Amino acid sequence: MQHHPARLIAKKRDGGALSPDEVKDLVSGVVDGSLGDAQLGAFLMAVCCNGMTPEETAGLTLAMRDSGRVLNHDHVKKKKVDKHSTGGVGDKVSLLLAPLVAAAGVAVPMVSGRGLGHTGGTIDKLAALPGYRTDLSLDRFGEVLGACGYAMLSPSSDIAPADARMYATRDISGTVESIPLITSSILSKKLAEGIDGLVMDVKFGRASFMREERDATALMEGLVATGRAAGIEMSALLTDMDHPLGLAIGNSLEVLEVLQALEGDCPRDLREVTMALAVEMLLLAGVAADADAAEATLSRLWRDGSVRQAFRDNLELQGGDVRVMDDHSMLGRAAHVVPVEALRSGFVVDVDPLALGHCVVDLGGGRRQPTDKIDPVVGIVLRHTLGDKVRVGDVLAFVHASSDQAAGEAVQAVLDAIAIGDERVKRRPLVKQRLA
Ligand code: URA
Repeated sequence: MQHHPARLIAKKRDGGALSPDEVKDLVSGVVDGSLGDAQLGAFLMAVCCNGMTPEETAGLTLAMRDSGRVLNHDHVKKKKVDKHSTGGVGDKVSLLLAPLVAAAGVAVPMVSGRGLGHTGGTIDKLAALPGYRTDLSLDRFGEVLGACGYAMLSPSSDIAPADARMYATRDISGTVESIPLITSSILSKKLAEGIDGLVMDVKFGRASFMREERDATALMEGLVATGRAAGIEMSALLTDMDHPLGLAIGNSLEVLEVLQALEGDCPRDLREVTMALAVEMLLLAGVAADADAAEATLSRLWRDGSVRQAFRDNLELQGGDVRVMDDHSMLGRAAHVVPVEALRSGFVVDVDPLALGHCVVDLGGGRRQPTDKIDPVVGIVLRHTLGDKVRVGDVLAFVHASSDQAAGEAVQAVLDAIAIGDERVKRRPLVKQRLA
């Protein structure tokens, strides 16, 4: 490091703004180890307490992006646009969105994460597809993108390596909830994908990272401003994560929901959020005149099988067994599939996504620690959702478990998570705000 680290940390502690050069120096110390753990923790805490100016956040984001390889897909003569979601329960949107947008002529180079805690991760869902590989070399990632219009990659140590150490340190130093740190963490990895544009799906509600709309709005504004300052086109939607998205929660079960959606059988909420994000991506790429035209194109491609074909092409290129598209039994099935029956008649007035997310983790479908192994076939499939009328004894959901005991515990947890009352309630709007 050229600057004295303690001086930079003290400047931040005292509320000063670091120059791009100073931030770059700190990030180089993160990567080469010359910034010690105590110093990194102190710096992160200073940022967490004092915040960063938009210019500082942009400087930090770019320095983190440049700590590894920044991909270039000039061989693909299309606009490259990606989506990032802050994560939720039942959120399998990326698996549908990438082929949908690719079918419309926009390239989607998507580097995704694994799930941790109650939120699922796209990479874990894709791993439930027999044979599918996301550990591609960066060159192969570019080839797949060129060949079928989208490519899916798991986090690589070559992409924004500074984030891995910073994220791990945030996790143990009480500094996760800092908007500049979240913003730079998310955007440094996305900017390294070599994209022209990014659509953010910022969730709010019980199962999201930012539960309150006010906090999620602040994060959305920070992400959009920083992405633009870094030179890419940005837009964002604030979407509801106060209930699960779609009906399936659990990796193989969510993939099955995606395969069925590609055949035209898609839960309404999942379709609405996927479409809204796809429309934004087409608008950012400049391949649709307006939102109505984008939606009409996307609906046609979904209906006429083009999206399913794009999914199949990508599946084959990334090593997956395409027979799964016609033979869903290849996804496997849990040893115990147990119905959860309504204990009273009435209307479904609440489906708690956080409780269901935790239940799937308890079944073995998610991780408590980064090293935990996942059981892909376990999970929950809802049969009824908010606003539905049910009678006593109706099946509310199926629990997919690996043992009788786990199934019994999950049945109780699902019963506790689904409230039945006397008056029909309506789900609040799925897309609450748009920033474009
Ligand atoms: N996702 C990330 O990649 N980083 C964060 O800090 C939060 C969510």
